[in-house]
Amino acid sequence: METYYKHSGRAPVLGIVFGFLAGALISIPASYLYDYGIIEITIDKLRFLCTIGFGALIGAAAGLGLCWGKVRNNAAAAIIGAAASLAGLYISWGVWLIDIFERGHWVSNPTRLLMHPGAVWQAILAINTTGTWAMEHDSPTAGAALWAVWLIEALLIVGFGMLVTFGLVKRQPFCEKCEGWCSKTEKLYFAPTLPPVDVKTKLESRQFECLQQLGQGSARGSHFRVVLHSCTSCGMLNTLTLIKAFPKDQKVLIDKLLISSSEIDAVRHLGSPRFAASASAKSMTLGRR
Ligand SMILES: [Zn+2]
Repeated sequence: METYYKHSGRAPVLGIVFGFLAGALISIPASYLYDYGIIEITIDKLRFLCTIGFGALIGAAAGLGLCWGKVRNNAAAAIIGAAASLAGLYISWGVWLIDIFERGHWVSNPTRLLMHPGAVWQAILAINTTGTWAMEHDSPTAGAALWAVWLIEALLIVGFGMLVTFGLVKRQPFCEKCEGWCSKTEKLYFAPTLPPVDVKTKLESRQFECLQQLGQGSARGSHFRVVLHSCTSCGMLNTLTLIKAFPKDQKVLIDKLLISSSEIDAVRHLGSPRFAASASAKSMTLGRR
């Protein structure tokens, strides 16, 4: 038996198409919002967030589309995430260019322009020489500096789109027997009373009782988070993920360790607040003696 869960790599064609379309279609209304955002917002930091948000939204739509289409292939997720964000980037250029040329018509239709990539490119070249906007209290950015800004913008959109799509597809295990995602997710919080490397080693060697030593943690403060995924249909596929959540230090220590149904029950029991409360009550009575 494998130690860790890994996607089978299956990527149904319909799922791939659906993922790409979901990402590309959401980018149409999102392009108008993004265009409005980058033109109307004058604070550079907020514009930056708009760019990231635009990419992340496309990635989320593509990722959900792929999950709906049962694509369990990390490479396919990254490629579709990048392709959908590139399509979104292209559409956003069309919306922006039409807006520059037809100032004031917020609902201009860029379809005709977008059908002619050559015209889009000529328009981009023309705008680059003069520039249209300025950083706070500055003359319009143009030429090489503008190319650099546009390149960073493109990398942010495609990068975040890809990351979010990838993250969504990788998030849950897929039960090949039942043909479904392991949508049952439980989160248990433990106190950070042991060194992370010890907790990792012990859980990997299946000494789940070490969780009892940790004691109950809180979601707000520093903690170890155990995330359990299980198949709702057969209950035979179960995984355990361990995350170290310290202030400014978040790390996945164990990614989807395969565990049996009796092991997951034991972990659930150790992590239940009622069990933790009775354990601490017991230690208090012992302490009084
Ligand atoms: Zn199953």
